[in-house]
Amino acid sequence: MVWPFGACEQHGPHLPLITDTFFAENILIKTLEGLPRKMPIWMMPSQSIGFSPEHQAFPGTLSLSANVLISLVSDVGKQIASMGFKRLVFFNAHGGQIGLLQAVSRQLRIQCPSLAVLPCFLWSGVPGLEKLLPDKEVEEGLHAALAETSLMMHMHSELVRNHSYLESKTSNEEIISPPKGWSLEGASPCAWLTQDLSSSGIIGDASSSNPKLGLALEKALIDHWRSLFISLLESDWPPIMSGESVSSS
Ligand SMILES: [Zn+2]
Repeated sequence: MVWPFGACEQHGPHLPLITDTFFAENILIKTLEGLPRKMPIWMMPSQSIGFSPEHQAFPGTLSLSANVLISLVSDVGKQIASMGFKRLVFFNAHGGQIGLLQAVSRQLRIQCPSLAVLPCFLWSGVPGLEKLLPDKEVEEGLHAALAETSLMMHMHSELVRNHSYLESKTSNEEIISPPKGWSLEGASPCAWLTQDLSSSGIIGDASSSNPKLGLALEKALIDHWRSLFISLLESDWPPIMSGESVSSS
């Protein structure tokens, strides 16, 4: 079972609030379309409000508290397990809830030992992305910047507003750097709020966004996730735990 996991948050003046949900759902649909028909994989309705406190200063953002999200995922996950599903993949497109989904996945695994839980992030571990994107985007393009804007221009260009805004300088704000040795994400992160870094809500540079790049990104994402789903479906993961009884079959 795959649960597309998005968010409802301001994405600068040019991308819709549903950006992350749109990517989680639509990249997943295209990924699954290419799988052999006999592969047993199902998609849940998308979760369109997630954990987005970092964007709350920007109108339009809706966020659940961490506690509510943990309860929600736990309640739904237990029902998925009780229906007999063997695996639950969180197909998450919002970077701000990676850690939370990893934590709740471990908790769910303890609560439902027979259910493997795989909390993946759409943009993580995708081969070739770093070749398609400039270093600056890889390091600082955290939100509504080149990658997300280009992907939306390719997948649903009518949802991108203010193309003229993108050509203006303001779509490229200089990001205030964290103290030396600290990072925005990664090794020594600083739990930033969007307003620490940006007045428009864009974190990074959206100015050179284009649909051609969006097409290349879409292909890299779909190829990667399709191969990971096939690998999962062909595997015996999760291993049967010692002491766990195997029913009659
Ligand atoms: Zn986003």
